[in-house]
Amino acid sequence: MKLRGKVVTPDEVIEDGVVEVEGDRLVAVRPADDVRDGARADAREPTDDWLLPGLVDIHNHGGGGASLTAADPAQVATAAATHLAAGTTSLLGSAVTDAPDRMLAVVATLADAVEAGVLSGIHVEGPFLAESCRGAQDAAHLRAPDTGLARDLIAAGRGHVRVMTLAAELPGADAVADQLAADGVVVALGHTAATAPVARAFLAAGRAPLVTHLFNGMPPMHHRSPGPALAALAAAADGVACVELVADGVHLDDETVRAALTLAGDRAVLVTDAMAAAGMADGDYELGPQQVEVRDGVARLAGGGAIAGGTSRLAEQVRRHAAAGLDPVRLVRAAATTPAAVAGLPDVGALRPGLRADVLVADTSLTVTRVMRAGQWVGGA
Ligand SMILES: [Zn+2]
Repeated sequence: MKLRGKVVTPDEVIEDGVVEVEGDRLVAVRPADDVRDGARADAREPTDDWLLPGLVDIHNHGGGGASLTAADPAQVATAAATHLAAGTTSLLGSAVTDAPDRMLAVVATLADAVEAGVLSGIHVEGPFLAESCRGAQDAAHLRAPDTGLARDLIAAGRGHVRVMTLAAELPGADAVADQLAADGVVVALGHTAATAPVARAFLAAGRAPLVTHLFNGMPPMHHRSPGPALAALAAAADGVACVELVADGVHLDDETVRAALTLAGDRAVLVTDAMAAAGMADGDYELGPQQVEVRDGVARLAGGGAIAGGTSRLAEQVRRHAAAGLDPVRLVRAAATTPAAVAGLPDVGALRPGLRADVLVADTSLTVTRVMRAGQWVGGA
């Protein structure tokens, strides 16, 4: 099968390109002029479509009214399908802070979904997080870093835990970070009140290759108290760590996203931090053990508390910032290529021959109109 349109590769936009798919693989990505006439029968005419790689969301708690944090396989399937239909062809399911038994059950359920091909991996957000920067994480279940519980969570994930968020300043954080690294788990600095020197040293030591939702779940940046946010941005600019950005217009001002993308370059990762309300109407939802109210698309802890996850899907973030004039190549790198690299998913994240055929067709406004995963159209479109 051949698809024709404006092709976004990790390096450029091919204005009139052809993406060739055989089985579940991409076999060629090149300018239409390079395709021999007889070989392009099903891509004969130029189109106004954009062709993007399937997007990779590495921080996600749910969608479609369903939660990835409920230890319920049916809800995991519904949430993953909701994001897939919008263009997220690779998804990490994120557990949240809860009682240890509950977290182990959630992680085991997510591992089942990875083995069923529904998810691409697991992110564990908690419970070793700073109380003062907990956001919507349940304070009752936060605890000091503990290698025993970390080991149990990794074991429950049966090799599928890719990322774990950790506050660097807590006693025992270094030991847990070292253990996670030894187990091949990416440590993400986050929900942290670390001072700038502590954050810088933690990142520079290679303990945390990732920062969980930069600016959110950490003290606001002030020039006399720069905290972890400025240290994280500098680490990204230096190529030491990648930074997640919840670029939904709620968690971060659009100008913050623009500046962070400029500074972090290829080290920026767009994430949704989505909860059950993603793709749904306003209403009352759950995030792990927490009750959440969604009003005007903004999720907060019940009673008007902290922002409690996002309601966007990743393609909506790409469209939003492309409409604001940001470079589609940079946005696609941040929403597909870099997160795939961070999460250790070498088979996805770009329109590149040899990779899995995850392709999005989008209209001139970058609204996704068709989704292909592993060479198959989603929803039979
Ligand atoms: Zn989260």
